[in-house]
Amino acid sequence: MTSQTTVKTLLILGASGDLTGRLLLPGLARLVARGHAEGLTLVGAGSDPWTEDQWLERVEASFAAADSEAEADGRGELKRIRETTSYHQLDVTAEGQLAGLLGQLAGPVAVYFALPPRISQLACEALAPEQVPQGTRLVMEKPFGSDQESARHLNKVLATLAPEDHIHRVDHFLGKATVLNILGLRFANTFLEPVWNREYIEKVEVIFDEDLALEGRARYYDGAGALRDMIQSHLLQIMALMAIEPPASVDERDLRDAVATVLRASSIKPPYTESTRRARYTAGSISGREIPNYAKEEGVDPSRNTETLAEVQVDIDNWRWQGVPFILRSGKALGDKRKEAVVTFRPVPHLPRGFTGVDAPNQLRIGFGPDTLQFDVDVNGPGNVLDLDRVTLQAELSASELLPYGEVLEGVLTGDPLLSVRADTAEDCWRIVDPVLQAWAQGNVPLEEYRAGSSGPEGWTT
Ligand code: NDP
Repeated sequence: MTSQTTVKTLLILGASGDLTGRLLLPGLARLVARGHAEGLTLVGAGSDPWTEDQWLERVEASFAAADSEAEADGRGELKRIRETTSYHQLDVTAEGQLAGLLGQLAGPVAVYFALPPRISQLACEALAPEQVPQGTRLVMEKPFGSDQESARHLNKVLATLAPEDHIHRVDHFLGKATVLNILGLRFANTFLEPVWNREYIEKVEVIFDEDLALEGRARYYDGAGALRDMIQSHLLQIMALMAIEPPASVDERDLRDAVATVLRASSIKPPYTESTRRARYTAGSISGREIPNYAKEEGVDPSRNTETLAEVQVDIDNWRWQGVPFILRSGKALGDKRKEAVVTFRPVPHLPRGFTGVDAPNQLRIGFGPDTLQFDVDVNGPGNVLDLDRVTLQAELSASELLPYGEVLEGVLTGDPLLSVRADTAEDCWRIVDPVLQAWAQGNVPLEEYRAGSSGPEGWTT
């Protein structure tokens, strides 16, 4: 399938950066090779005095994998992009420099801010509304602000430059296939929706346990921590999809309205010593790899007390979810890699006498990347038919042919903000976690420890 994009030029600011080389360009390459970006021109920009050849070298290296898998048409398109791409040296924070470049490029242009967050903000502030041609799309990376106040300020600046549906706040974690997999499961099965509420569901957990440790990212991570890095953005989005009311359609307006409604009703309630937990890993090993103590890693300031594992209980104060805890947890350097949403149903009200063997409530688990579905049900066991046994029904859910950043870019280039975080939602996600961040900064919740490679601190049994 080939498709024309509404965007003519993709301008990547931060051309020499890690995100551009490792994720954006390979994502773009697969998108181009599969015919989803016909006619697009790629432009790179950065503060380094790179030659055209240096930029081309970077593009070629990032395109190599897609090039080797592509059919003839796809290879032709990748070649065309390489032949027409250009590099511009500029300081995006300097008055007039970005505006000058924007004025030279064939529009509509999508401007991808692959820059440190502070620089992105200054770059937007340096632009005047009349310097941004109509149809321009602005693509903002995470983190979007550092609290509710700064997110609100950034939203105000962006609103002067482009309409909301031309602003893409990226959350690469939730690919289109994953979003649609959750919605398909929830809203295309009559047997699920009637029990998807406080009457039948005891709790919902969204868990993202990584076996990766800091991996040299102290500069970013030590200033962020697990709550900001994962829960504030990604896990709240998944929670919202698990909890939304049935939308009339899966277009951006219906879906993003439904997500915003759920997040507006959500909060983490004090006392935070009960609704939140935080911990930091010490030295250990994972699959034979020695992991140093986080506090002793290069670039880490131990006095910051940055958490590498965070868990919060979110309450959704609406009719459907009153009293059902949504537990969100994410951490690094854990022994078992686990990325899933787990719905635990309430026990049956009465098991006919004579049956034995039921020892756990039904659980439905949606695994992420690759997306899977597992449903635990009790059936009559082999041998003694009165003895109930647990079986797990499993399915693999649909996967995308694109890389995660290819999905992000597809939305940007075709003008579909479905996967972008809307302005009000970006602020609400900070509103939910801000009081916890403040309580943690004041030391009101103890920072526990866990050994790298373990399942977390003792007593955290999820
Ligand atoms: P890097 O520090 O690797 O790259 C930043 C880029 O910004 C560099 O190319 C740098 O160029 C450029 N830059 C800095 N100041 C200016 C300026 N004044 N004018 C023009 N260019 C400038 O950061 P990352 O690529 O890691 O991250 C970029 C964004 O993406 C961040 O918001 C990050 O949070 C987000 N992100 C990153 C991920 C990752 O895995 N890397 C994953 C998800 C999100 P130069 O070196 O020439 O100054």
